[in-house]
Amino acid sequence: MTEFKSVLDLITKLPTEKHCRDYLANIRWGDTPICPYCNHNHCYTLKDSRYKCAKCRTPFTVKVGTIFENSKLPLQKWLIAYYLLSCSSKGISSVSLAKQIGVRQPTAWFMLHRIREAMTAQPETLDGIVEIDETYVGGKEANKHESKKLKQGRGSVGKSAVVGMIQRGYAVQTFVVPNTQKRTLEPLIRRYVKETSLIMTDEYGAYNNLKEYYEGHYVVSHSKREFKRGIAYTNTIEGFWGLCKRAIIGVYHYISKKHLSRYMQDFSFRYNERECDATMMLNKILYYGIGKRLTYKQLVRGY
Ligand SMILES: [Zn+2]
Repeated sequence: MTEFKSVLDLITKLPTEKHCRDYLANIRWGDTPICPYCNHNHCYTLKDSRYKCAKCRTPFTVKVGTIFENSKLPLQKWLIAYYLLSCSSKGISSVSLAKQIGVRQPTAWFMLHRIREAMTAQPETLDGIVEIDETYVGGKEANKHESKKLKQGRGSVGKSAVVGMIQRGYAVQTFVVPNTQKRTLEPLIRRYVKETSLIMTDEYGAYNNLKEYYEGHYVVSHSKREFKRGIAYTNTIEGFWGLCKRAIIGVYHYISKKHLSRYMQDFSFRYNERECDATMMLNKILYYGIGKRLTYKQLVRGY
């Protein structure tokens, strides 16, 4: 597999649209292109890495049925965008991407959201030692440290609630939730965390009943300034919130409620794939993005 050591290296190894198409085709199909219209696996290769299905006779390129379909941008710009996003630990802003690949900022913004849409691969279920916590993001950054107060109903103006579950040493799952009440959090937790798990939370009331459903529930009393008692701590999930918040402050400055879940997907994906190098990450996002399409209309309308 080709490895990219830098953006320059990527440009050198994928200099033309054809090179980029071949690269993508390899990730999508391996050696055998599949017709995106009828799923037939016998297709003729035409020039410039176009194909024609031997059965339904429809010509196609590797872009059909992917997030690149209908995009007029050269694939190379897309791949550079993917690569830059894969290299950065906190993500990349549309302003910065626009400058680096020479497109307008709204185009870069749309590209980044389309790429984030591919970063959906979250683990099915969590097991083992699972830390669970909720936080508020968005709105004015200056109020961030007051999230505990916000829990008590002092108003979370402009902020959205997010619940996170992290299996130590493995992966995180995050969800943007309408509120942090027990009836909202409990079903989500029970759906994604196996009953055999040991649960770690702070003393927030919404987690009170978890001991009934799980192997064990350890509560860390932050109000008594207790942060770690043997295996009982929630530092891992709090560290993850820290990463998210630093990315929001440092890279994006502000994230609207409407798009928050997509940014959370981005942060979670990045955390879960933290062992990957940039090329592996690039390939994974490309792979997951195949078959996913997000039109501009869907994006601005919100859904
Ligand atoms: Zn076909």
